[in-house]
Order: sequence, then C-alpha cells, then structure tokens
Amino acid sequence: MDKNDNRKNYSLSTRLLYGKMQTQAWDYTHHVVPPITMSSTFRLNSPQRGAEGFSAIGQRYPDDPGEQTYVYGRMGEPNNDMLSDVLAEAEGKECAVTYATGMAAINAAVLFSLQATSEVISHKTVYGCTYSFFTNWMPRMGHKVTFCDLSNPKSFVEHVTDRTRLLYLESPANPTLELLDLEAIMAEVKKINASRGEDDKILTVMDNTFATPFGQNPAKYGVDLIVHSLTKALSGFGTVLGGAVVTDKKYKNGLTLFRKDFGGSLCPSTAWNILAHGVSTLSLRLPKQQANAMKVAEYLEAHPDVERVYYPGLKSFPQYDIAQRMLRDFNGNFAPGFMLYFTLKAEDGDASKVRGEKMMTYVADNAYAITLAVSLGQIRTLIEHPGSMTHASYSAEEQIKIGMHPGGIRLAIGIEEADDIIKDLDEALIATREFANT
Ligand SMILES: *Cc1c(COP(=O)(O)O)cnc(C)c1O
Repeated sequence: MDKNDNRKNYSLSTRLLYGKMQTQAWDYTHHVVPPITMSSTFRLNSPQRGAEGFSAIGQRYPDDPGEQTYVYGRMGEPNNDMLSDVLAEAEGKECAVTYATGMAAINAAVLFSLQATSEVISHKTVYGCTYSFFTNWMPRMGHKVTFCDLSNPKSFVEHVTDRTRLLYLESPANPTLELLDLEAIMAEVKKINASRGEDDKILTVMDNTFATPFGQNPAKYGVDLIVHSLTKALSGFGTVLGGAVVTDKKYKNGLTLFRKDFGGSLCPSTAWNILAHGVSTLSLRLPKQQANAMKVAEYLEAHPDVERVYYPGLKSFPQYDIAQRMLRDFNGNFAPGFMLYFTLKAEDGDASKVRGEKMMTYVADNAYAITLAVSLGQIRTLIEHPGSMTHASYSAEEQIKIGMHPGGIRLAIGIEEADDIIKDLDEALIATREFANT
C-alpha cells in the first residue's frame, strides 16, 4: 500500500495537512510544502494532447472525468487541483472545482445545470450578494427564483414545478445564524426526485461557508453541491479571496467548463496560499475561535444592556436541538462556530439601531482587539452592522421578514485571548450606555 492509499487510516485534520501527498498535479520529489506553480500555459508534447485537454472538459457529464490534461491556466492547473483534492477530502466528497471568489463559485453551482426556463427555489435568508444575484440577475436570464422559509423543511414542496431544477440552502444563515435541518429537507428532496429522470432531478446546493467543513458535513445528508467562500475560515488569515464547489465526479466537468467559459479562475499562487496556510491549519484555528465565541456569547447574554444573543452554542438558541445534530466537528464534538449576532436593549428598532451604531463607532475609534470590517472566519475579530452593510441588498422590511433586527450586530470571532475581546466589548457597552443616558 502506498502513502496515498494508506491516508484513510489517518485523521481528517492530518489529511488536511498532507493532502494526497503525491498526485499527477504534484510530482515534485524534493518539496515538503508543495511549490507555487506560476505557469499560464502548459507544454504539450503533441497537438493531440492539446485537443484531448479541450475535448475532455467539453463533455459535460462524463461518468469519470479522470485526470485533467493541463493546457491553459483558466482551464485548470496544479495548485488549484491540489487545493481541490484537499477540499474534497474535508467535505467527504469526490472532487472540488475552485473559483476566483465565493460568488464565482455560487454562480457556477447555480447556473451550470440550468436550462433556459429552469426555476430555482431558495431559502429566504442567504448571503447578501447571493440574494442580489437571485433578485437582480437570475430573472433577467429567464430564471424564476422563489424564496421560502426552510425552517419548515416541507415549505419548498408547494413551489416545486416541472421546471424546478435547483434548491438553494444556506446554514447557518447570515447573519441570524438560523439553522436548517438538512436531514429533514433532504428527505423531502429525495421523495420528489424518486419519480424524476436523471436530467430533471432537483439538485441541492448548500453554502457551508459559516460552519466550514470542520463544523458541518452536508455530504452526509446527500447535498449535491457544497459551496464555500474560501475567503473566510478556509483561508483563515484574511489575505486572499477564493471560492470552491465541492461535489461528485459527475458534475466536475460541467463546473470546470463553466469556469473555463465564464473565466472566474483562481490564481495559482492564491490557491497555493489557501492550501499551504489555510486549509492545513483549519482544525487548529477553529476550536480556539469557537471557544472564544462561547465565552463572548456567555458574557453578552449576561450583560444588562444586551437584549438578545444568537449563538448556536447557547442553550437559549431557538434551534439548539438542530445545532446539536448538524454542527459537529471532525471528531463528532459539538461545533457551534465562531459567528454570533446580538441586539442591544432599546425602546424600539430605530433606537436599537442608533445604539448599535454608537457602539460600533466606539469600537472603530477605541478597540484594539476588535475591528470594524465586513468578512469573517479570519484570525482577527471583526464586528459589523449587517442591516446597513453586508445585507443592504435586502430592504428594511425584507430584513425584518428574514428575522434580522434593525440594530443587530454581527461578530466574527478570531484567535485573540477571549478576555481581550470581552474587555473591548465591555468598554464599548459602557460608552454606549453613557451616550444613551445623555
Ligand atoms: C463571503 C461569503 C460569500 C461570498 O464569498 P466571496 O469570496 O466574498 O465572493 C458567500 N457566502 C457566504 C456565507 C459568505 O460569508
């Protein structure tokens, strides 16, 4: 047995560090760390080889796409493939296709299988740009997108038509952290697909960015396409943008073809960065961020000025039972994650928003261990106001409908000492209270 075949005897954390060790993409004898490959085009030893490379990705649904012939960087290259192998390993899927950003990955996962009149059903609470893509662009391309509340797992069934080709999921949802019961939803999808042919099946796409593969395993429930913004916890250090779709081999060519023709390829040095620094340290960073998040959540929940804290690790979390079932780490331990959402006490929504803004302004001016910035999953703690920042694509009424609060504050916890994060929050809350009393 060679090292590669033998790797299944090792823990997932260790496999994320070593990958497949030696593949066609990585046939360097001397390196411990895979080298950065920076070649926009590839030497072909015959014109036939070039033709093979093009025709191979031209077949949309081959049974086994096999190893790719490298021809040109936009079509595929070694660093991207090494990263894809490790991401597939992390999610327990057969393969992955990487993209320039998370949004490029989401566009590919949604569009690659659609026909001109195909329809999509989506959970109501999704990442702000995903929502913008669904409402601004999909209708222009002729695709109807229907939103429903999948906290009731059967709610999408009444919207299914002969043209429904895709169900779009995101959990934990951004920013409310509302969870979906994947087991119950996928059972409904299976029932509908039982009477459909292969080309008419409803495919499921799930954005697993918040939980990461470390904290949730959608493949276990049969989700077809798992999308990630690699910009977040998978790269982890806040230095790069990237995206990926993790899936079964039969969808690999369609997704690679989409990348070739739409052009959202991931730069090889960025793929290398995520491979060498990000994915390899995921299971080291996340437990620390998670332990910090738990302490911060408990601190905020006990604070007299805080109205409500949403964190899946708190017993008061409305879907604590679903959290316990869905959010499990590589070793099966409860993994409530590093994201939390909270609101400040105030007479009404508008007053809460003003107080929240005061608090964030204080943090921006004075805090050392918390930064006012969008994004999440990196080693530094970030704070933001989704209502006016990441979720501005939802109108104020829509925000309330999806469970957001006008004054809701989102925290993405990093690896600082928890007490330092709490110290900054404490000072900001005192300053906010003094402001409210004047
Ligand atoms: C950031 C994010 C995206 C988009 O990823 P980019 O890399 O910024 O394009 C999609 N989904 C979720 C949940 C995100 O947090």
